[in-house]
Amino acid sequence: MSVLVQKFGGTSVADSKKILAAARKAIRAKMEGNQVVMVVSAMGHATDLLVDLAKEITDEPPAREMDMLLSTGEQVSVALMAMAVHSLGHEAVSLTGAQIGIVTDSTHTKARIRSISTERMRKALKEGKIVIAAGFQGVDEHNNITTLGRGGSDTTAVALAAVLGAGNCEIYTDVDGVYTTDPRVVPEARHMKQISYDEMLELAGAGAGVMHSRSIEFAKKFSVPIHVRSSFSDNPGTMIVAEPESRDVPVCGAAMAKNEARVTVLKVPDRPGAAMTIFSRIAARNVATDMIVQNVAENGDAEISFTVFRDDLPATLKAVEEAVRELGAEGYSYDDDVSKISVVGTGMATRPGVAQTMFRALAEKGINILMITTSEIKISVVVSRDHAAEALRTVHQAFQLDQPPPEPAAAAAAGAMGAGQAKAAVNLAARMAGMEDLIISGIELDDTQARVTVVGVPDKAGMAARIFEEVSGAGVVVDMIVQSVGHDGRADVSFTVPQKDLDKCLKLARDLSKKLGCDAPESCPKVAKLAVSGVGMRSHTILARRMFQSLADAKINVDMISTSEVRVNVVVDGDHGRKALEVLKKEFAEAMV
Ligand code: ADP
Ligand code: ASP
Ligand code: MG
Repeated sequence: MSVLVQKFGGTSVADSKKILAAARKAIRAKMEGNQVVMVVSAMGHATDLLVDLAKEITDEPPAREMDMLLSTGEQVSVALMAMAVHSLGHEAVSLTGAQIGIVTDSTHTKARIRSISTERMRKALKEGKIVIAAGFQGVDEHNNITTLGRGGSDTTAVALAAVLGAGNCEIYTDVDGVYTTDPRVVPEARHMKQISYDEMLELAGAGAGVMHSRSIEFAKKFSVPIHVRSSFSDNPGTMIVAEPESRDVPVCGAAMAKNEARVTVLKVPDRPGAAMTIFSRIAARNVATDMIVQNVAENGDAEISFTVFRDDLPATLKAVEEAVRELGAEGYSYDDDVSKISVVGTGMATRPGVAQTMFRALAEKGINILMITTSEIKISVVVSRDHAAEALRTVHQAFQLDQPPPEPAAAAAAGAMGAGQAKAAVNLAARMAGMEDLIISGIELDDTQARVTVVGVPDKAGMAARIFEEVSGAGVVVDMIVQSVGHDGRADVSFTVPQKDLDKCLKLARDLSKKLGCDAPESCPKVAKLAVSGVGMRSHTILARRMFQSLADAKINVDMISTSEVRVNVVVDGDHGRKALEVLKKEFAEAMV
């Protein structure tokens, strides 16, 4: 008999009527011949209410006690769900994370799953019971209750589906699937039939709250198909699988991370290891950084900017203060009033001009771009929070995301793991200490590119659009783009191009710099881009730290950085490319599939 996992989110169990409706869905699936495991979230806004209660008592509740508190929300709903199933004449058993044997590490409020015991669930299923598992929670090796991070019930569901070998993991929620963007913010968003793991991962990481991004890491690693669908109808939802819906579109979706903060460390001595010092201190506080931008050093000093969740800002600033002291940097600045807007698509890698379309659309609305980073399948910009919703609508429209894609995809997704690789990943995961451990699927070197930096770009709307329209007008394909934070009303925009196009680009950059009132542009004739790809790239804060540390130990200076959920790119001096490749391969040997 096949196992089916069904997860019900907060709104889907918000009252007794909804709990009974969910119970009926599970019973129906059981009658159809499945062994059913339900994963249930806390009722409605129960978790938010518990968070608020804690805040009324103290500003800094101990993380262990937070977990003790928050886990109670799910304990209420599993008990009620089991009662509902019983009342409808079927057998069920509710289980907490600890009772199942979901063992996590001890990182309270952000714990990672190490292992899951299937014994108790299998026994109950064999006895014909519906298993009702509390989402979001586990227990560490010392029997302390832990939670997996907000929205973590999705991760519980997919992890249970993985260990039970379930054929399908159904996520029942208050929308009938995954849309091209949040339909609450952009009503014209389009329902998608299918989306690839990599695209969903990037969208989730970029703020699409419909799925917890770590759940997609599990799904990708263990090849679990996910069906996101509505609790309130029987309409088909969205399948999250290895293949994208279409490979004929550059962008499949857009997302907004509304509550972000930008931090800039000022005048950092430009030497190997400086970035490492900053990010290792932040990583030690379990804060994930994003959109790391380092501007090219002037007079031996660099500026390093990055974004974090606004909630993580206090912890981040403490870490930054320590790093500033250690490095002898000048200080730091921050802005906690910003949002991140991203567009995602596996088709982006093979189509030039995507970034420019996004920049132009924002320019036409007069929206100023404060920071830019690009990776192979994602472009992210930082804008002020007042403009975030408008920016999201604008880019959604610019890529005509409300229109269906031309043709369904045929072959395997470019960015997703192939079948062989996925199998190797599962085998590796079985040998690893923890199910959520980092997996590296490839480390590649590209030393065919050069870098151009437009220096001192006026900090106003339309500048990035101008630059990249001119470059692409000259027939040059741009790869990586980063734009640092404007200081004194000026920003630096760096990008990489094929080496053969450098002279052409530099001439163009000089002319444009004069026209726009920028300083003289800078360049590097040969750079090396190292791309480390895998699963858990961003959520494992240790990854960036180990990359920077190992390169710093080898005296290799990092020039540009871009991070995504599936890949971290660093650009170093072209002469150090081979050495950097060796260093990284050695550093991550144990995590390679
Ligand atoms: P649950 O409580 O069931 O886990 P969530 O609130 O976590 O539900 O997730 C569902 C919500 O995610 C939707 O109501 C929607 O507003 C939001 N959302 C954000 N981005 C998207 C997207 N791309 N597609 C669908 N929903 C999205
Ligand atoms: N109840 C938890 C939360 O609200 C977990 C979840 O619903 O996924 O974050
Ligand atoms: Mg959710």
